[in-house]
Amino acid sequence: MINVALIGNPNSGKTTLYNELTGSNQSVGNWPGVTVEKKTGTLRSKRIKTNIIDLPGIYSLSTISLEEEIAANYVINKKMDLIVNIVDASNLERNLFLTFQLLESDIPIIIALNAMDIVEKKKESINYNHLSKLLGVPVVPISASKKIGINRLIKTIETYDYSKKREPIKYDDDIEKIINDFDKYIKNRFVSIRFFEDGLKALDKITLAKEDLKDLLFSFYKANESFEIDFDMVLPNARYEKIIGYVNEIHKKSEIQGISDSDKIDRVLTHKIFGLPIFGAIMFLVFFLAFGPIGIFITDAFVGLINDFFNLIINGINSLGVAPYVSSLIANGVFGGLAAVVGFLPQLAILFLVLALLEDSGYMARAAFIMDRLLRRFGLSGKSFIPMLIGFGCSVPAMASTRTLDNDEDRKITTMIIPFVSCGAKAPIYGVFAGALFGPRSFIVVFSMYILGIIVAILSAVLFKKTLFKRAQANYIMELPEYRRPTLKNTMRHTWERSKDFLVKAGTVLLAAFIIIWFFSYFGFVNGQFRLLSNDEIGYSILGAIGKFILPLFKPIGFTDWQATVAILTGFIAKESVVGTLGILYGVNGNVIQNGTLLYSSIQANFTTAQAYSFMVFALLSIPCIAAVTAMKNELKSWKLFSFTLLYEIFVAYLVSFIVYRIVQVPLEDILTYLFTFTAIIFVFFMIRKIIKNKGKTCGGNCSKCGEEKRRIITQNIKYKEKNNVDKGDSNGE
Ligand code: GDP
Ligand code: MG
Repeated sequence: MINVALIGNPNSGKTTLYNELTGSNQSVGNWPGVTVEKKTGTLRSKRIKTNIIDLPGIYSLSTISLEEEIAANYVINKKMDLIVNIVDASNLERNLFLTFQLLESDIPIIIALNAMDIVEKKKESINYNHLSKLLGVPVVPISASKKIGINRLIKTIETYDYSKKREPIKYDDDIEKIINDFDKYIKNRFVSIRFFEDGLKALDKITLAKEDLKDLLFSFYKANESFEIDFDMVLPNARYEKIIGYVNEIHKKSEIQGISDSDKIDRVLTHKIFGLPIFGAIMFLVFFLAFGPIGIFITDAFVGLINDFFNLIINGINSLGVAPYVSSLIANGVFGGLAAVVGFLPQLAILFLVLALLEDSGYMARAAFIMDRLLRRFGLSGKSFIPMLIGFGCSVPAMASTRTLDNDEDRKITTMIIPFVSCGAKAPIYGVFAGALFGPRSFIVVFSMYILGIIVAILSAVLFKKTLFKRAQANYIMELPEYRRPTLKNTMRHTWERSKDFLVKAGTVLLAAFIIIWFFSYFGFVNGQFRLLSNDEIGYSILGAIGKFILPLFKPIGFTDWQATVAILTGFIAKESVVGTLGILYGVNGNVIQNGTLLYSSIQANFTTAQAYSFMVFALLSIPCIAAVTAMKNELKSWKLFSFTLLYEIFVAYLVSFIVYRIVQVPLEDILTYLFTFTAIIFVFFMIRKIIKNKGKTCGGNCSKCGEEKRRIITQNIKYKEKNNVDKGDSNGE
């Protein structure tokens, strides 16, 4: 059995290739963090039995983040027989950096030169045969997403000659001298190079007698003094020089050296001033599509359908003359809850679809880039925004993805704020309340919830950073993949997977929850007798008693009936069950099931706009569902921090709901007018300030100086140097 590891930069196409090589269906993403843990599969090959391992992306073997350590350690500890190094051909220089590091080891390597379709589209060419000669390893040109060259790659893996040794890559004499100096003691060129580059951090890979260790350290410090630049930059710079030499030999650029389409689009979409409002506008459009007239129209039609369908079943069951409690269970418990939740599937599907399109086209990476600039002002890492983006779907994977962050502090802070980001499961709550009370304007209300979530998350992060943790400047460079036309298959798969998750959850966890909720709300003691309650009597039920008991606590934030209180509580099981519970508890006249539209009338009867708004805010900000709470505990790894976070969330939810409830007593139109005017004024103010500051600093771009700056940034990024602010070029030195 041969173990083959896929190693390459983030976004180089590892998972796409993994799926092609193994025939599996792992989710492909366009931002870091999608492949958090390694996956293993079997190569589609009749000849040999081969394990394929998909590892998280890395830029370099000198790493900091937890996620990257998994992959780097894999190489350093030689846990595989063969490396398939995926090199993004549209980004050769940066990708070859890792390739060179891998080649410094003696592990067998095949290079899969991916994304050749992009190279061809740009009318460029890469002489891969020559590259293969220069590096001394097989180079196979492929296009993973277009399924080109896969069989050739499989064949190369099958026929790889393990007996052939390759010449190590040699650097300039002064560098070689140092490597040899170290190697006298370490006696392993690869480890000596790691020691050269990573310094004392690499010591744990070296076992030496005390005397030798002393001598090694002595020569290390001596070597340190012989260079003017930082010693840890010496080898990366030499490597880069060599890479640039090679690339010039093999890479034929197109005659017309223009700015790529991607760069042209980015000039607008990631513009310093307009980038953020454009992002805002795009998100606004997303919510307009999902929760605006179109979404409402589709939902109404869909709800009508499931309503008829469920009624048919209920009438069928009733006509069999079943016992009253069975009929109540089916009508109120099962269908009452389910119909209320499932009715929101169309709106969610639209939301998922549009987000998948944005993700697949490469825009989401830009969104993170834009937010990075904003977050940086607050001393936060822009990388935190990626977990937050994932959190729009679900907090659980979002929390897992915090492992891509470089330092523990950012990781914890991000985990603590993710619950404030409005996850997909909260959307039905807004859908039903906004739909019932705000009519055609409901998408604005829904949008405001998402914005509120982000604002509270960012403010909390700043607060945590200032109080709980010591300050450390986060350093992060964001890679922007080329824009691509989203593929139908990928988009549909994302949408389908998320919608399916939603349906499966409705059919399992939520269904069980609804039955339990039904039991505790439709049974109770009346006149000392425990029995099934009619719809008018459910106030006597067990949940009714609990709800009434704690209702006073919620009075200040506008809750007036126990049903709302109970619904909020059941949200801790799963946020979707809030709507389902309302569906069960507002059961009308026995045989009528609750769907979105019918729930509207119950909500119109029981909530004012201010109360509804306060309810949504509390559902948004208070403790997330049990799955997210568990994930949070796992990531925080500290009971103290964990309990603090839970208390903090309750406190914030209560506080904000309280404030919102008071404010929304003022008519909505006035508030929106004030809000928009206020935002516009602030925005214009910052824009003018920016324009004044930027005066005289304009630059046509693309000059060689910037090119050099860019290379420096790349090199530094690879070394993750904490002390320099590498993002100078982008954040305008702020
Ligand atoms: P990973 O982060 O290395 O696992 O990369 P993924 O497999 O998730 O791919 C990142 C993005 O690159 C996805 O949007 C893929 O569809 C896209 N991609 C992968 N291979 C190719 C290719 O050969 N050509 C093009 N144009 N896009 C590709
Ligand atoms: Mg991946």
